[in-house]
Amino acid sequence: MSETCFACGGQFAPISGGSTHAYMLSSLGCWAAYGELLAREYADPALFAAAHRLTVDAFAIQHPGDPKERRAVQSYWIHGASLWLVLREGQSHRQATQALKTLAGGDYPDRPLEPSPFAMTHADLLAAPVEQHAQLARDWAYESLEGWRGAHDEFARLAGVALGEKHRTS
Ligand SMILES: [Zn+2]
Repeated sequence: MSETCFACGGQFAPISGGSTHAYMLSSLGCWAAYGELLAREYADPALFAAAHRLTVDAFAIQHPGDPKERRAVQSYWIHGASLWLVLREGQSHRQATQALKTLAGGDYPDRPLEPSPFAMTHADLLAAPVEQHAQLARDWAYESLEGWRGAHDEFARLAGVALGEKHRTS
């Protein structure tokens, strides 16, 4: 028995009660499953290092929330740019995290309203053995970006801004 998350389209065990993130809106079951996923990563430093940056960014852009909400829109663009830095620019997770600090608080355009259906969600990670978690996190991150092709030019532009800032200050 499962329920489809209205945002990511993943199938999760239904939950009654509880809460979700303030602006990365999801179904209750989806948010609870994300908590389980994070618990896996917090329990294993090597897995955390390999996957956590991608996990946070992938969840964020699969749950972009209200397109009129400023925090939600900022989160969407920053996490999308982070995925771009790692997956398209070959930056390390640490480099991406550093670079993204330069983007916080900027002005952001409206985001595209709807993604294409995502080929993967964190339901796929939770269903797989933990040994596959790191590779699947990378696949999930890739598919999250693929779902937002209409935003790729802007993710790339923001990634460039973040890298430029980093180079100027280092
Ligand atoms: Zn979801």
